[in-house]
Amino acid sequence: MREDFLLLNPGPVPVTREVRQAMSEPMVSHRSAAFEAVYERAQDALDYVFTESTLDGTTTATDGTSLIFNGTATMAMEAAVANLVGDGGDVVALVNGKFGRRFKRIADRYAAVDAVEATWGQSLDLDAVEDAVGDDTDVVTMVHNETSTGLLNPVERVGEIAAEHDARFVVDGVTSIGGDEFRIDDWNVDVAVTDAQKCLAAPPGTSAMYATADAQEAFDGDAAPFYEDLDWHLRKAESHQTPFTSAVPLFRGLAVAAEDIVEEGMAERIERHRRQSAAFREAFTAMGLELFAERNAATEYSNTLTGVSLPADVREDPDAFFDAVEARGVSISGGQAHLGGEIFRVSNMGGLSAEQILRGVRTIGEAFEDVGADVDKEAGVAAARDRLR
Ligand code: PLP
Repeated sequence: MREDFLLLNPGPVPVTREVRQAMSEPMVSHRSAAFEAVYERAQDALDYVFTESTLDGTTTATDGTSLIFNGTATMAMEAAVANLVGDGGDVVALVNGKFGRRFKRIADRYAAVDAVEATWGQSLDLDAVEDAVGDDTDVVTMVHNETSTGLLNPVERVGEIAAEHDARFVVDGVTSIGGDEFRIDDWNVDVAVTDAQKCLAAPPGTSAMYATADAQEAFDGDAAPFYEDLDWHLRKAESHQTPFTSAVPLFRGLAVAAEDIVEEGMAERIERHRRQSAAFREAFTAMGLELFAERNAATEYSNTLTGVSLPADVREDPDAFFDAVEARGVSISGGQAHLGGEIFRVSNMGGLSAEQILRGVRTIGEAFEDVGADVDKEAGVAAARDRLR
């Protein structure tokens, strides 16, 4: 693998040398004081990320707890649902992309699910959400930043609807938390989950959750899978441990990565992610390409992931385009599920520099030229440079 290989796929994202070094330190027991110190550092930094992901520097949640899990965010999503409705109940699941669908599939295993669906990439109908959520609803699940399409969903508005009916609101902030604004109390979020290898820029394999005091009250760990009993996780977290063997090197990497976020400061970090995603969007539209997601008054383009429709001629042989990108030492992603061969996706999550964003734009432009697509690479590079200046 070349040293300068650049990951612009939506996770795992590049990790720093310090994160890599932390992962290679000598092993310690997960029941040692040395490990507890690592968990505590990661937890303190994650408390900051979960509760101060605001542009104005305000704190948006105060009474909850950050937990860290062995296992990626899909497990954290399941843990949230199973601990809230593991014995059955009514869930309203919002679906306008692959990860919204994943939340619905998880909920299907535990509860009666009413799905509010929109075509992937399009905005959810908030009137339909209002109709679906009622006083019998126990849980509403929603994805904030839909990584499969590049649309930022209206968590604040849905949180109001959930709160009106006293339903618990469980939000997948996997590709927003640590890179974009996320206001737990202001948006009536009860449980928020994120993944290590996305905006946190840590190695893949762990995930994190913020559970408010209300949510903790509502958890029924006995109803959840044994490994995901959140009452147990919360008890062990008091002494900075996990119930079962912790993935020690991954926790070490996570602690360093999360502390880097504290050092950068969330407001700065959010501004940087917004600038970089705008650079991608402006670059690709200047090239003559079309963004895939369709916004409406309630939604925004993602600030961490850009989804772009492939031109018709490239769709005839999308692999040639993706191979040309990879041959230049850059990794991007194609569309997921039925969007395979229809779109490409680039991430600006984590700690990328302006130069890396520009390299991504230039590489994608060159790859389009390689396959004979009619794109204006130079206009794209100029637009990105203007935005990043
Ligand atoms: N939710 C969203 C929005 C995601 O983008 C992802 C990963 O891409 C996940 C959840 C969880 O995926 P995993 O458990 O495979 O890390």
